[in-house]
Amino acid sequence: MRKPKFQSPSGMHDILPEEQKYFQKIYDVVSNIADFYGFGKIDTPVLEETELFSKGIGIATDIVKKEMYSFRTEGGNYLSLRPEWTAPVVRAYIENGMQTLPKPVKLWYFGPCFRHERPQAGRYRQFWQFGFEVLGEKNAVVDAQIIQIFYNILENLKLKNLIVEINSIGDSQCRPYYKKLLSSYFRTREISLCSDCKRRLRENVLRILDCKEEKCQPIKAEAPQTLDHLCEECRSHFKEVLEFLDEIEIPYRLNPYLVRGLDYYTKTVFEIFPEAVGEEGGSQDALAGGGRYDKLIKLLGGKDAPACGAAAGVERIVSLIKNQNIEFLKAPKSHIFLAQLGNLAKRKSLKLLEDFRKARIRISESFGRDSLRAQLSRANRAGVKYALILGQKEALEGTIIIRDMASGRQTVVKLEKVVEEMKKKLKK
Ligand SMILES: [Zn+2]
Ligand SMILES: [Zn+2]
Repeated sequence: MRKPKFQSPSGMHDILPEEQKYFQKIYDVVSNIADFYGFGKIDTPVLEETELFSKGIGIATDIVKKEMYSFRTEGGNYLSLRPEWTAPVVRAYIENGMQTLPKPVKLWYFGPCFRHERPQAGRYRQFWQFGFEVLGEKNAVVDAQIIQIFYNILENLKLKNLIVEINSIGDSQCRPYYKKLLSSYFRTREISLCSDCKRRLRENVLRILDCKEEKCQPIKAEAPQTLDHLCEECRSHFKEVLEFLDEIEIPYRLNPYLVRGLDYYTKTVFEIFPEAVGEEGGSQDALAGGGRYDKLIKLLGGKDAPACGAAAGVERIVSLIKNQNIEFLKAPKSHIFLAQLGNLAKRKSLKLLEDFRKARIRISESFGRDSLRAQLSRANRAGVKYALILGQKEALEGTIIIRDMASGRQTVVKLEKVVEEMKKKLKK
């Protein structure tokens, strides 16, 4: 087949009608849970000032260095398509005066993000995320509740064998010292590290811990672990988070290599995976991930306030739902097919369809076709119980034929009575 003249941008995809049911189902589950836990929905522009991300996510992160769609506007502003939602949500929180609201402020979102990553199976450059943010609360119960929310959502979507991987990466009190330890550890072994990790050693030493390269694994395994170097406050916070998780019986596993790729995290970080992966973390992508970001609000110009949140990738969840053949997505079927013949009948059919819609009775049609035979064979294939036939004669007389598809029996009723008549038939 020849390539069409125009194609979607590389790494981006259309969400076709048959995909929409998955997106809709996920949206429904997420918004129900958001309601239950008292989160308010927020939408932000897909574009933000580039500096919001370089400052918020961190200038040395892969996202900001390599993956953002950035451009200069006619007016000379530097803008970027959002690569994630947390920085924009925090920007909106500060800008709209939400810091004066009773704490905590709980927000959720659902929409596309953009990252210019190497295209690979299941990864898109425009991808959808949903997420939850709790702003203005430092208690560990919030960390546990965020994890619980994502766990519940994935479970409601019938995904099985979920496991939470969790770690604490400390705060401004204990992390600088830990990073120093880590740097000196890796520096003496620099020669054996992969080329990416050699760069990370200078730019962002924590990221070496989530390197997936074979040759870095044995070096990682001996590296000092963050949990051994937390300050008292971080240690007790983390302990509380784990106690809450035990309390609500969420299965988790400590993963000392979990650091997440963004600079703004402090203390708790976590990811949720569809099933247990090996000690090395495997190559499987997480379904959801997040953590605490106690310094971000101040960093972006707000009053110092703690916060915690997480996000999940919608396409990733959709592909898992498909792989696991999860069925909850049967579209309600219509039991009636409306066939018509001739102009007058077509006009009356349009009106009739509205009457059925108002009566909340599902009915399908094929107005584009003029042959009655083609329409009826379509009705047959759709497996409806009844076909309504509005031919030229019936349209003139103000009647309509009800055909029982199984028996082939036909009855004629007055057009204005047909909705009532069908209501009765469908109840039987
Ligand atoms: Zn490496
Ligand atoms: Zn600390």
